[in-house]
This record gives sequence, C-alpha cells and structure tokens, in this order.
Amino acid sequence: MPVVERPAVTVVGGGLAGCEAALQLARLGIRVRLVEMRPDVQTPAHRGDGLAEIVCSNSLKSTAPATGSGLLKEELDLFGCRLLECARESSVPAGAALAVDRDEFSARVAARISTESLIEISRSEVSELPLRDGEHWLVATGPLTSPSLVEVLGKITGQRSLHFFDAIAPTVTLESLDLEILYRAARYDRGEADYLNSALDQATYESFHAALMEAEKADVHAFDRKELFEGCQPIEEIAASGPKSLAFGPLRPVGLHDPDTGRRAHAVVQLRQENRSGTLYGLVGFQTRLKFGDQKRVFRMIPGLARAAFVRFGQMHRNFYLDTPRCCSRDFSLKDRPDVWIAGQITGVEGYVESMTSGLITAWHLAARIHDIELPGLPLDSMTGALLRNFLFDRTTEKLSPMNVNFGLVPDLATPTRGKRERKIAKSERAVAVLAEWLGQEPVARLLAATAG
Ligand SMILES: Cc1cc2nc3c(=O)[nH]c(=O)nc-3n(C[C@H](O)[C@H](O)[C@H](O)COP(=O)(O)OP(=O)(O)OC[C@H]3O[C@@H](n4cnc5c(N)ncnc54)[C@H](O)[C@@H]3O)c2cc1C
Repeated sequence: MPVVERPAVTVVGGGLAGCEAALQLARLGIRVRLVEMRPDVQTPAHRGDGLAEIVCSNSLKSTAPATGSGLLKEELDLFGCRLLECARESSVPAGAALAVDRDEFSARVAARISTESLIEISRSEVSELPLRDGEHWLVATGPLTSPSLVEVLGKITGQRSLHFFDAIAPTVTLESLDLEILYRAARYDRGEADYLNSALDQATYESFHAALMEAEKADVHAFDRKELFEGCQPIEEIAASGPKSLAFGPLRPVGLHDPDTGRRAHAVVQLRQENRSGTLYGLVGFQTRLKFGDQKRVFRMIPGLARAAFVRFGQMHRNFYLDTPRCCSRDFSLKDRPDVWIAGQITGVEGYVESMTSGLITAWHLAARIHDIELPGLPLDSMTGALLRNFLFDRTTEKLSPMNVNFGLVPDLATPTRGKRERKIAKSERAVAVLAEWLGQEPVARLLAATAG
C-alpha cells in the first residue's frame, strides 16, 4: 500500500500515548505531525521538554504473566509496541517490575521518532481543532490537558469533562541516605535485591503515623477526597483510615526480613532506584499532598532518611478525562466529530502501560479508516480487549471511573480452574492465544502490510 501523503494525522501531545500513536501511524504508512506544547507551555507535573516524559513513579509495574500488567506487556509485544521496547532498553533494576531511567527512556523515544521520516515534530499549544478536509486529529493530551483544549473538547462533545485527583511521590538522592541503616532486599527474596529498605519498629512507626496525621496539607484547587484515584491514594489519606493502615498498605513488611534481627519488622519503607546511574531513589507508595516543608520533616523521621535530600517533592493534580462511553465511537473517534480521535489517559484508562496501549490501538483504528479497512473488534478475552472494548464502553455505570488493568476485567474461564494464580495463568494463556488469532485475521494482516514504501 502506498504512503498516505500530507500530514494526514496531527497527533496532539507528545506523551506516552501520543508518541506510541505517532510511531504506529508511521509504521502503517501514514504521514504524521506530532505537536507537543512543552517547553512553551508547561503542565503542573512535567518538568522538562522531553517526549514521553514519565511524571511520577518510574515503574511500569510487573512483568509476571499472572499479573494484569504483565499480561498487558505480553499482548503489547504481539502488537509490536514501540514504547515498551524503549522501556526495556532503558530499564533499571526493580525486581519483578519493569522500571525505567526516565531521562533515558524519553531520549530513546525521541531518537526513535527522529529516525521516522514520516513524522514531523512541532512545539506549540494546540487550542483549536478545526475541520480540515481529509485530515484527522488524534488528541492524546493526557490528564493535564491544557485548559483551552479542555474547553474545545467540551464544546465538541457537548459534555462536562470528568476529573479525578492523582498524586506524585517524592524522590531523594542516594548520597543523602544512610546506607548503614537501609538494607537491600527484594520482597520474598524474589529476583535481585534491588530495593533499599528501611525497617521501622513499633514505636518509630507510631510516631511516624502520628506526625503524618498532624502534618499540613497543601491546598489543591477544588480537591474532594471522594474523587481520589483508588489505585494511588496519598499516604496521608491511607494513614487517616486507621493507625495500622500503613503497616497493612504501602509499609507492609511481609516477605522482608530485618537482616540485623532476622525477624520481620513492624513496618518497612521501600525505595526504588529511579535512574540508570543509581543516584536517585523514589519512596514507593508515598504519593502525597503534604506541604513541602512537612514532607521533608516527616519523611526524614524514616530510619536512614534523616538527612534525605529531596530532588522532587510529592504533589497532587486534578486529572482530566472524557466520558468515553457516551462521547466516543468504538474506534475512539468522537461521535460528533469523526475526524477527531482520542487516546491515552483522556479516554479513561489509567497508567503508563495502559496509556501506551490506548495510543497504539487508536492509531490502528485511525489507520484502518484511512486505508479503508474494517478491523474486527478486539477479542474480549484479551486484556487489551477487556479494557478498551469492554470496560471503556460500559454504559451501565453512570460515570466512567478510570482503572488500571486487572484480571477482574477479563471474563471467567469456560472450565473452572482451582487456585487464584492458576486461574490467572490460564486467563493469560487464553488471552495471548485469542490475540494471536485476531492478529492473523485477514483485515488485520492487510493493515499491518500497509507499511511505508
Ligand atoms: C500527577 C500524576 C501522577 C501519575 N502517576 C502515575 C504513576 O505513578 N504510574 C502510572 O502508571 N501512571 C501515573 N499517572 C497516570 C498516567 O499513567 C500518566 O499521566 C500517563 O503519562 C498518561 O499518558 P498520556 O499519554 O495520556 O498523557 P501524558 O503522558 O501526560 O502526555 C500528554 C502530553 O500532551 C501535552 N499537552 C497537553 N495539552 C496540550 C495541548 N493543548 N497542545 C499540545 N500538547 C499538549 C503534555 O505536555 C504532555 O506531554 C500519573 C498521572 C499524573 C497526572
């Protein structure tokens, strides 16, 4: 199939979904203009001008097939996801998780895009989406979409936009940590001992909990705790649900033995390497909206962190998304403007890998329309299909609430299987098999043959 000339698609937003979408469109023979507003206009969470900048934790979660995220990665390998390849190339040690050096990941994505002759990059804020004959907009502007574009999307869809609140965890330097007190270990000794751990005895834990409860929180515009993202609760909110909540939550000590005593500590704080050179560490599960001064004071109570130097403090943000079940067609084009397509977190998916997946799938749908190919629906037994075809278009709930992938989204097995882990593995195997079959179907194979040149 010949290359589709003109920038047939303008991808708005050079984040995780937008970069994956641009690379997939180029792969499918379509000329793309990728428009990113940074550095001219910044979001409240991004820090630089890099493409595919990861704003918070550097973890892309588990790679184990018996986890939702592990299965999604297996499926993305079948699709040929470009950003997942870049993530593996820039990985840092993180046990069973795939974690990346943020700067290297962003640089690799940018390098990959720069070698694509079909992608041109421009830097400016897009604040209107005019109708242009034969051209398409793919909007992947993420949870921190600029206000002017939020307004434009609101006018097109005729709907109020939705939102929830999400928080970032702080990052500290390795050289400021006391390595005499912290110890290296992996939970249950699985994989390499990649995490730094701080053991808290009961008295230290209780003082830490009390200090957290008394610490001052930053004001966040229109903040309402009912609108917090469930999978990413700020640490002070978890603490407020009871004195033991942290020890059963982000500070759970299970599978981590104190090397001094050989016993399980009352609670454990984990720190994960954030860059390839190993100079930065993130506090795992410490998303917060405490005032910066109080973050420093309270988090320095953690054994080994008394002199911690914070290179980034935790922050909370209001995240925008669209009411996909009501304003989108199943190919992710807007019902009222079929030339405008959406991808990434604004569709109501949550998470880095989920956003890449959404970018890839919207790009495939858009390319299929341009090449006049009718794609079959994604298999519902796959994690991708369960998320993008089923969950996002469920109209039985009044309000779409963003979600990470998980096995609860995937239909039950036809034959009962004993054991939770065995059931997940069986669902994973079924998902990979149905997706491989889908990729072999004639229209999909024809789309994939539509490469440039
Ligand atoms: C504070 C916060 C913390 C998060 N923490 C995590 C986490 O720890 N783990 C996790 O898995 N997920 C996390 N997420 C959720 C989500 O996975 C990420 O936000 C992810 O980056 C979403 O991908 P995206 O491509 O949809 O958006 P983004 O990666 O945010 O990309 C959108 C891009 O669009 C650009 N843009 C916005 N408006 C315009 C415009 N009008 N014109 C041109 N460009 C524009 C932005 O500058 C940005 O580069 C977090 C989100 C937030 C906001």
